[in-house]
Amino acid sequence: MMTHNDAVYMDNNATTRIAPEVLEAMLPYLHDYYGNPSSMHRFGGQVGAAISQARKQVADLLGAEPEEIIFTSCGTESDSTAILSALQSFPEKRHVVTTRVEHPAVKNLCENLDRLTGHKHRLTRLMVDAEGCLDLQKYEESLAEDTAIVSVMWANNETGVIFPVVEMARMAKERGILFHTDAVQAVGKIPINLSETDIDFLSISGHKLHGPKGIGVLYVRRGTPFMPFLVGGHQERGRRGGTENVASIIGLGRACEFVAANMADENSRVKKMRDKLEAGLLSSIPHSMLNGHKTDRLPNTANISFEYVEGEAILLHMDQYNICASSGSACTSGSLEPSHVLRAMGVPFTAAHGSIRYSLSVYNTEDEIDFVLEKMPSIIAGLREMSPFWKAEV
Ligand code: PLP
Repeated sequence: MMTHNDAVYMDNNATTRIAPEVLEAMLPYLHDYYGNPSSMHRFGGQVGAAISQARKQVADLLGAEPEEIIFTSCGTESDSTAILSALQSFPEKRHVVTTRVEHPAVKNLCENLDRLTGHKHRLTRLMVDAEGCLDLQKYEESLAEDTAIVSVMWANNETGVIFPVVEMARMAKERGILFHTDAVQAVGKIPINLSETDIDFLSISGHKLHGPKGIGVLYVRRGTPFMPFLVGGHQERGRRGGTENVASIIGLGRACEFVAANMADENSRVKKMRDKLEAGLLSSIPHSMLNGHKTDRLPNTANISFEYVEGEAILLHMDQYNICASSGSACTSGSLEPSHVLRAMGVPFTAAHGSIRYSLSVYNTEDEIDFVLEKMPSIIAGLREMSPFWKAEV
């Protein structure tokens, strides 16, 4: 079986390696401590205590209170819960503000609100400019009397572009509008302190921060009106029914400590490696361009278009050297449509099709960067030799 030791893994916005210390923390909860945390006996009770500790670890990373943390099954569930909760809490308000570049977890939910809720909704999807940034003036103009919730991602999964959600949440709060942010890509990569913001809901996914898959968190600010998505038992203080995914909750708690301890490395060494990769690719490969703002961006992400070649073909050639990256988000690959994010930014068709997202982590090394920089120019040149678009244009 291929392991991470063989792969040059630069697809960390799709998913991350479970940190060994995270796995180690989880294992006892898969064999020894299998009690149900809701049970009255001590055997279950000790599991409940471990969950409380994990809740505190998550809260500490976010600058939140443990009571504001609800464990869910994934980032997608957290996103759905926040938006549908706001619409149920304010049934008279039928307007939702979001952006054109959200992850499908928010984008597709918002596009299906009428069907899911049985009510007609008005949706404002904010445009982005060529660098993937929002216009705050336009945002302010979109906020209306009947706006129930704003949902804007903290950082974009494809380009890494960071949105000014703290400022946007303040503007929403001034008008009595709830604010949700999908922070699945931001948490663990950039510092976040929710106690200093007006954000009401925030979504996390465990597998993007060196934790396990199938576990998420929804932060709900104390006092925010809330309607559960999964109605059942009294777990999560009645805010999310279903027996807890204990081992994964423990793993996510430990992962939050791991990313907090590595935050400085992420923003110095990882960022430096990303900058070297980006500068090297742009200078050695003609007709290549960066997608996304040069500086308002996550430290680990570089999205680069190689004009006149196909992203899927590039990935296949990279795969021969065991280099892992992505041509858009993993959730949208499999379709030949160019990414909705790059289209919203107005990236020309010939460039959008040849975009590759390199997303690094603290496990990457300088040698790996050099290896990718050595292999990419010949991969692109070889494909261009075969490309009818390249021959027609150049
Ligand atoms: N939101 C963003 C920005 C993401 O990048 C992802 C995953 O790619 C999700 C939500 C969905 O998270 P999950 O896979 O835990 O449902």
